[in-house]
Amino acid sequence: MAIKKLLIANRGEIAVRIINAAKKLHIPTVLACSEIDVDSLAAKIADQIEVLGPARSEHSYLNIPAVIAAAQRCGADAVHPGYGFLAENAIFAQAVVDAGLIFVGPQPETIARMGDKALARSAAQAAGVPVVPGSVGEVWNLDEAQRCASSIGFPLLIKASAGGGGRGIRHAYSSETLTYELPIAQSEAQAAFGHNGVYLERFITNARHIEVQILGDGNKVIHLYERECSLQRRRQKILEEAPSPAITPELRQALCQSAVNLAQSINYLGAGTIEYLVDTDSGEFFFIEMNTRIQVEHPISEMITGVDIVAWMLRIAGGEPLSLDQQQIHINGAALEMRLNAEDPERNFFPCPGTVNELYWPQGEGIRIDSHLYEGYRIPPYYDSLLAKVVIHATNRPKALQLAAQVLGDIRLSGMKTTLPLHQRLLASDFLAAGDFHTNSLESWLTAATVVTEEY
Ligand code: ADP
Ligand code: ADP
Ligand code: MG
Repeated sequence: MAIKKLLIANRGEIAVRIINAAKKLHIPTVLACSEIDVDSLAAKIADQIEVLGPARSEHSYLNIPAVIAAAQRCGADAVHPGYGFLAENAIFAQAVVDAGLIFVGPQPETIARMGDKALARSAAQAAGVPVVPGSVGEVWNLDEAQRCASSIGFPLLIKASAGGGGRGIRHAYSSETLTYELPIAQSEAQAAFGHNGVYLERFITNARHIEVQILGDGNKVIHLYERECSLQRRRQKILEEAPSPAITPELRQALCQSAVNLAQSINYLGAGTIEYLVDTDSGEFFFIEMNTRIQVEHPISEMITGVDIVAWMLRIAGGEPLSLDQQQIHINGAALEMRLNAEDPERNFFPCPGTVNELYWPQGEGIRIDSHLYEGYRIPPYYDSLLAKVVIHATNRPKALQLAAQVLGDIRLSGMKTTLPLHQRLLASDFLAAGDFHTNSLESWLTAATVVTEEY
């Protein structure tokens, strides 16, 4: 039963992206937004809006009864949760289903299983996918943690099962730090995610973060190859690219096949991402987590494969079988995504919301800008700082890097500090051009770059 009217329970660039995909499929759209977002770009381009409540997310975008009531008021038959907010909340997905609506994403049980990182590790193991050496499930007391740590070895990470967005991860370098850190990790997890369960994982010192995009219809699963997401700050992705410049065709095949096997083992329905760490010292790869939703960096996979992932999410949710075959999906050229955030890289990435004065996005072949900005738009201080994703596609990686530098130089965006200058410096760096980096490289480079500035 195809979707007749779609409620978008999100904001910002992803709300715009989802509305545009729905328009392409001729599905009428309703934006469920907070009071402060009624003049957002997504509100302007949606066919209709429903106000959820006051600006603060707990009163609007995280308010489950308000979202369900909005869907019922406007007669929507489906809800797309976007990313962040309620996107990986199994209770929300269940509430949507219980209200007789379609949840655009996997079944609530799949979210519950794969959204809990400790449970997801067991699902991966059951599907024969290697996981980072660590505890079997959660650890509940210090004795158990110390016993487990002595077999994993130090350094290790204490990770919240319910964590996400780069938060809920603490380091333990020795048995003493584990004693000290375990209770802190547990109480932080309780405060941030409402669940104090944590598990232990070996810390992979030189790792690349490589993830595989998958699409499933509950029956068949395909992959859209990998994304290289090692350039991170505080475990948050800054610049992503597809394909990874650093893996062999054999490793690519192994990663993609293991992602398909895992998704197949849980009869996955919708778009999902399986995240791995590749140990650059040993060449081994390990599952770290699955994201059961659309991801921020999905456009680079769309650029290299030509598949509209968000449109497929809507089609699959409407009951259409996935008609794409794996043999049809090829890697075409190279794509990059640079996240422009309203943050000041000179002041420790301090958030800098403001009003957009001047705005010009370059246009042309291989240039895609996913953004919710318009001239005169006042950026509310309540939400994520993402302003735009500058996505570049070219026939090969050197050309994509070159076009990216040109596009960044041509952008005109004033009214606030952004991470644009950081991307310009990054594009001029040797390690990016060489494709030679791991998950700690960006932070080391930032520290070194700051020291140099201070010396002058
Ligand atoms: P992606 O690879 O899509 O960036 P992230 O895990 O970074 O994946 O999450 C995407 C968005 O959702 C980000 O804006 C992040 O801030 C937010 N997010 C994800 N999980 C959480 C969480 N548990 N708590 C708060 N924000 C989250
Ligand atoms: P989140 O849910 O916050 O996205 P992840 O488990 O995906 O958490 O980890 C986020 C990032 O933290 C990874 O991309 C990687 O940089 C780092 N990380 C996670 N697990 C490990 C590990 N076992 N060893 C080294 N780095 C890790
Ligand atoms: Mg992750």
